[in-house]
Amino acid sequence: MTINVLFLGPQGSGKGTQATRICAAHGVPHVSTGDMFRAAIAEQTALGREVEPIVAAGELVPDALTVALIRDRIAKDDAQAGFILDGFPRNIAQAESLDRMLEVIGRPLDRVFFFDLDDATATTRALERANREARVDDTPEVIARRLAIYHEQTAPVVARYRATGTLHEINAARSVDDVFAEISAAFGWLAR
Ligand code: AMP
Repeated sequence: MTINVLFLGPQGSGKGTQATRICAAHGVPHVSTGDMFRAAIAEQTALGREVEPIVAAGELVPDALTVALIRDRIAKDDAQAGFILDGFPRNIAQAESLDRMLEVIGRPLDRVFFFDLDDATATTRALERANREARVDDTPEVIARRLAIYHEQTAPVVARYRATGTLHEINAARSVDDVFAEISAAFGWLAR
């Protein structure tokens, strides 16, 4: 049995928090492209140096780099029983690459969770995180830019999965525990 899941939603919608909790409970890896880029930047690898200014500006890293990172990651042993992808795909081209990748390895997506959150709450939460975590991309200007990119490029990805019937829409304005309970119930059902 495998559980292949996507978490989509704007910054501040709680994707990362929920992915960490669900992955701990179900023993599947939390695959966050944002975390992978931040780790590469912290280690100053070749990839890290290349993506650092892009991430700092809130722009999207080129698809070729991002797709290659995901392809390598989901081929690893610990991802064979499934994965939660958090922050990928961010645009239609990435979604198409993912579909092809999963078709080749014969592992369709089981569910796409969409963390629905209004812009005002997303912005407030991202600003609060700025105080806690000191992320380079949590300044007011970059938060606004990331939200604009989300609407332009990632919202069409949500529409794509809504059309295929794999989308589970979550009201992400609720508490962490309420959202966790809803996703856990859905996971229990998927894992049967
Ligand atoms: P996140 O932690 O998901 O908000 O990602 C932080 C930053 O990493 C984004 O603002 C982008 O610069 C970059 N990034 C993360 N995921 C992707 C992706 N799927 N495609 C392109 N860039 C990404």
